Amino acid sequence: MTQAPSTPTYPLMQRRLCSNCGACTQPDHEAQVEDLCGFQTDVVTPLEPKLHGRPRDLSSDEAYFGVFQKMYASKLKNPKEDAQTNGTITTILERLLEQGKVDAVLVTRKNSNNTGTPILVRNKRELENCKGSRWDMVPLLDAVPEIQKQGIKRLAVVGVGCQISTLRALEAQLGLEKLYVIGLVCTDNMTAPNWKRFIQVTSRTPWSVRKLEFMPDFRVWFWHEDGSIEKVSYFEMRMDKLQDCFPDACLSCFDQMNALADLTVGYMAVPLAWQWLLVRNQRGQELFDLIAADLDHTEFVDSGDRIDAMKRLLKYLGKPPTVLPRLLARILDNRIQSSGPKGLEFARLVVENKQTRNWYFLKQRYPKKIAKIIPPHTQQILDRYNLK
Ligand code: SF4
Repeated sequence: MTQAPSTPTYPLMQRRLCSNCGACTQPDHEAQVEDLCGFQTDVVTPLEPKLHGRPRDLSSDEAYFGVFQKMYASKLKNPKEDAQTNGTITTILERLLEQGKVDAVLVTRKNSNNTGTPILVRNKRELENCKGSRWDMVPLLDAVPEIQKQGIKRLAVVGVGCQISTLRALEAQLGLEKLYVIGLVCTDNMTAPNWKRFIQVTSRTPWSVRKLEFMPDFRVWFWHEDGSIEKVSYFEMRMDKLQDCFPDACLSCFDQMNALADLTVGYMAVPLAWQWLLVRNQRGQELFDLIAADLDHTEFVDSGDRIDAMKRLLKYLGKPPTVLPRLLARILDNRIQSSGPKGLEFARLVVENKQTRNWYFLKQRYPKKIAKIIPPHTQQILDRYNLK
């Protein structure tokens, strides 16, 4: 279906505060943008009770992670090669197709330059090219007209929060009989040229990077062609050279946890190489059950003090990025490895850190949006730290 340009352009993002989810490539969707788009209105809060049967409980971890029935720290007993973590999502999609539960799955195909193209996949062989993550902001919902053209009635979709919230806002118009939604945890994304710049600035051998991931050990990991893994501490990253890499949309997002998915999959709260699975509703349970027998599980870790860490981080809010001397960066890295927030507390820290950063960004750049798009769970975080 959609052909990816060799160097992607992002015309939607030039028009307004936008993450290039792709919905607005259709004029009738663009006409509804005020109601569909998470950067125009809080789409998540009104839809959560409709999808999950109740609003999130703001007195519990749901304030951070969204509504969930169960959560697991799991990994496949037989991981897939070339998958981003171990192939959990690809395996679920394979089973959906093999068991005839869906006509197609909407995913992102990986292009040779690691950008992504939305694609409707109908069999396991085509899924092979869709493993792993892309370094791009992919217009996933560009594929919506094709869903209708191909007469697809039962569909599974994999996407990040901004794509999924718009999909949910559009769902009633799609005429689907069944929709399964797998949501990816996403803290920040970039356009393909900026991912390239990020890798050039951060890795010691950018030409050989074949995979990267932000990890819960406060480091970004780069997997290289020769099989080595390079780990760069967050404290050593040259944020002074990267500041404008992150698009305004990611700096205005309050749904890192993909709260409108049936099943959310991520890394933050679990040990390295494991995956965090949040079953949000009955359909999410159905997705989980497809692979339940193939999973190993481990206990969640929950230690450290994010509030102390947040108070330190908030001192830098709005200040120019600081480049630490290497020795100091190493000392801080060692300290955070031994006593920093871990597991669920690390995940709460990430959510609080991103959402306070994003609130501050909106306040500076798009103050009129604050009343429209800040959800109650973010307001609760702002109140905790007395941010006004
Ligand atoms: Fe449209 Fe999606 Fe961009 Fe929002 S993020 S403006 S819905 S293309």
